[in-house]
Amino acid sequence: MQTQKSDITPAMQAYIGLGSNLEQPALQIKTAMIALNKLPGTQLLAQSSLYSSKPLGPQDQPDFVNAVALIQTELAPLDLLNSLQAIEQQHGRIRKRHWGERTLDLDILLFGDLTFQDERLVIPHKELTHRDFVLKPMLEITPELCLPDGTALSGFLVTCTDNQLSILSS
Ligand code: ATP
Ligand code: CA
Ligand code: CA
Repeated sequence: MQTQKSDITPAMQAYIGLGSNLEQPALQIKTAMIALNKLPGTQLLAQSSLYSSKPLGPQDQPDFVNAVALIQTELAPLDLLNSLQAIEQQHGRIRKRHWGERTLDLDILLFGDLTFQDERLVIPHKELTHRDFVLKPMLEITPELCLPDGTALSGFLVTCTDNQLSILSS
């Protein structure tokens, strides 16, 4: 059978933000890393340390555990989003309140050098440069990491939020 050109999707490197503050958050993050590695056409290339952080929204909720994964994937961006949302559901995610507590949140932070925007997906993630709990784990994996326009992410460390990050021992 002849392979159609459209069947061939080059593997892309993507950074995924993980967050949890319910039901054994560190375990939620660790099992989500394993789930990422099991997605079709996808390998987990690197993972950051686990970080504890103060919540962004309502303060009457537990501290978060955050981490970032670097994956290589043949999934298209919207297929990756669907797969991440399926993992969130498998982890029993229930949507309560905006920026509220959750068992698992998985965000696409960067997808190669792609810039993309539709009603379901914005890449790079719209809050990426503002959040220390995303920037620091990304830079732990790749210190020289840049946005698609070439701006170094490390430059945003001085202006981003301070969510009182601390590295959790594994
Ligand atoms: P924030 O987006 O500020 O981190 P959140 O993660 O709590 O907030 P969710 O309720 O998890 O927000 O997601 C809301 C919607 O955001 C999702 O249904 C999804 O369609 C959309 N979305 C847009 N861009 C992205 C992205 N890069 N990664 C993941 N979801 C995204
Ligand atoms: Ca999020
Ligand atoms: Ca999300």
